[in-house]
Amino acid sequence: MRLVAVAVPVPFLDLLTYNVPDAMPLPPVGARVRVPVGARTMTGCVVRHDAVVEEGTDVRDVAEAVDAEPLLPSPIVELCRWVADYYVAGIGDALAVAMPPGARGRATAFKKRRTATLSALGLDAARGASQNVESAHARNLTTRQSAALEILLAAPGGLPTSELRDRGVTPAVLAALAKRGLVALSDERDDRDPFERAAMADVVHDATRQLTGEQQRASDELFALADAGEFRVALLHGITGSGKTEIYLRLADRVRRSGRQVLLMVPEIALTPALAALVRGAFGDRVAIQHSALSAGERHDQWHRIRRSEIDVVVGTRSAVFAPLDRIGLIVVDEEHDSSYKQEETPRYHGRDVAIMRGSRERALVVLGSATPSMESYNNAASGKYARITLERRVLDRPLAAVRLVNMRTEYAEQGPEVVISRDLAAAIGDRVARGDQALILLNRRGYSTAVFCRQCGDSFECPNCSVSLTVHRTRGGNDRTGWRARCHYCNYSILVPTACRKCAAPYLEHAGFGTERIEEQLRERFPEARVGRVDRDSVRRKGALTEILSKFAGRELDVLVGTQMIAKGHDFPGVTLVGVISADVGLGLADFRASERTFQLLTQVAGRAGRGERAGEAIVQTLYPEHYSIQLACRQDYPAFFDREVAYRRAMRYPPFFALINGVVRGRTFDDAMQQAREIVRRLEPATAAGRFTVLGPAPAPLGRLRGEHRVQFFLKGTKRADMRNALMQVVAGMPEIRRRLTIDVDPLSVL
Ligand code: ADP
Ligand code: ZN
Repeated sequence: MRLVAVAVPVPFLDLLTYNVPDAMPLPPVGARVRVPVGARTMTGCVVRHDAVVEEGTDVRDVAEAVDAEPLLPSPIVELCRWVADYYVAGIGDALAVAMPPGARGRATAFKKRRTATLSALGLDAARGASQNVESAHARNLTTRQSAALEILLAAPGGLPTSELRDRGVTPAVLAALAKRGLVALSDERDDRDPFERAAMADVVHDATRQLTGEQQRASDELFALADAGEFRVALLHGITGSGKTEIYLRLADRVRRSGRQVLLMVPEIALTPALAALVRGAFGDRVAIQHSALSAGERHDQWHRIRRSEIDVVVGTRSAVFAPLDRIGLIVVDEEHDSSYKQEETPRYHGRDVAIMRGSRERALVVLGSATPSMESYNNAASGKYARITLERRVLDRPLAAVRLVNMRTEYAEQGPEVVISRDLAAAIGDRVARGDQALILLNRRGYSTAVFCRQCGDSFECPNCSVSLTVHRTRGGNDRTGWRARCHYCNYSILVPTACRKCAAPYLEHAGFGTERIEEQLRERFPEARVGRVDRDSVRRKGALTEILSKFAGRELDVLVGTQMIAKGHDFPGVTLVGVISADVGLGLADFRASERTFQLLTQVAGRAGRGERAGEAIVQTLYPEHYSIQLACRQDYPAFFDREVAYRRAMRYPPFFALINGVVRGRTFDDAMQQAREIVRRLEPATAAGRFTVLGPAPAPLGRLRGEHRVQFFLKGTKRADMRNALMQVVAGMPEIRRRLTIDVDPLSVL
């Protein structure tokens, strides 16, 4: 018998062993095969040839070989095995991340983009459609199906299925809806150049530019590391505006000339279109781009260009870490502290950490760049595990923005509790608008208001499926409050905001809490002459919308840009001389061990967007806690002081980076059911905890106690030996097969909320 071990896309499932029939050539590692799993046939991937089975075991045959050549190069297959192991995921789940889109099915090439539109619902008015959706509820649709209809309702032009998938609508849900005639699926050819959308025409890389002394020193050190051709991790800690991008480009060029390939990872390409354009400008055609906002067809084409070795440089988001490059010499992880490197669905990998693992397997230099490194990376640099390279000055000796704090308690006392924009901030905005400078205004909370309640009876709008209150969004143009929607940010459930209370009919509905939409409204009212734009997940739903707004702002067609953390990242807008932070405290009150770190990073990064041109910049930060250390130290932009303070807290409290955490969440139809299962898992972990290998905290109700109609109970493993913790957990899961579909495991969670 010739045996192969095959990975299939089933949660938590280990490799399955199959026999290759005599007539079939042995499929190589990395090739796809069709195999029987239970009563079904699935597309899997060959992972090993050295499978063994006990005598007498019934081994089924591979049904069909899909590829004669490996689809995935074997180093990528091995990397995925590590991911599955480290993150306690099924090997099939891990491999699925590395596959090009469409690879799970039988078709290997498609250049079409499939679009889904709401159909058969009489779409002449959104209102009509909304009633139809409501009646669809009555037609016994599942929560997922109604959620899909809700999303499509907001997009009369339809949405590509790839985008729908990113928003949680699976092809199966679409197929079910299509079968019922509620959704129409259509294919269109799509061969647009992904750079067209990503690029902003006016950024050009000037390769002859004189480096600053600091940049030169940093480049020399990195060149030496790259030339050694060995695995090494270097932390490039450079303050905002110190010119890190220029260093990446020169280093990439050097590595490329030496015959090896470069992977440049960024948190979100759409947020840094200038970088993609710079790289394309610097390296021409042999550049590929990889990120989830591309259509499936685009991603597919780019992936195969990389696989055919037509590429020297890949720019991409976290999943690009699996790009099938075969001569990788350099991996740059820009803004390495950014939380979007962590995938929040199975397999819950961290792109930066996988990059380091890949670098070590393929002997590449890994450069982590940031002005505000993660505690993990800085700690490794401080201990000498990583090389540390520091840039302490901005290019051309531009000063950092001067940061001023506004104590909102004083402001409330003097101006009343309704104040959102303080006098100082308003004056500064007015000043910029009058001078023709630009301002960025940050509030890390979207929507118009964050809760609605009745002043008479106290009834509030909670999501029926999740334990959160609904966020109010104003629909396009609606200035009177009719037609506003209250929406759940987790499951997308929404209702029209009524004009009177649903319970007691009193007309006293109060909006509490404010989000970006309210700031935008206030700015328009107070500065009618200013051109105001907004960037948050809601305003950039449409493909290309984000690039459009950012290019407008870069082209000085907007004066003020309001937004969530999306505006704090990496941008380089020389016209910005003012950054306003509406509430520095969003997130600070959360009982999460990373709350201070996140606040420090966000404030430092957003303040770093000011004063990048000829004129000096200023930042005004509104807060209720002006004395909090993460706010104080962010104002002084003093990273080392913040690290010292924070690291002492982490050590004392036994948190990462000193202790590892694994989070488990058990879902159930009732709370008791979820709790009972979680208790059983914890009970089975007892022998390991009794042996002192790690500790277990919980089970306890998860902070988000209900989500999409399910109850959630969580527990934590905490210790210094991750492998022990993982193995114990994996053993327990293996002994409770029925728990697989109801358990989520998160190794190194970014948040404990
Ligand atoms: P960082 O990523 O470190 O925040 P950037 O790489 O965005 O900084 O650089 C900040 C600005 O300085 C950019 O506009 C960049 O073009 C410019 N810049 C970088 N290096 C130089 C240099 N050596 N001389 C002049 N300008 C530079
Ligand atoms: Zn919900």
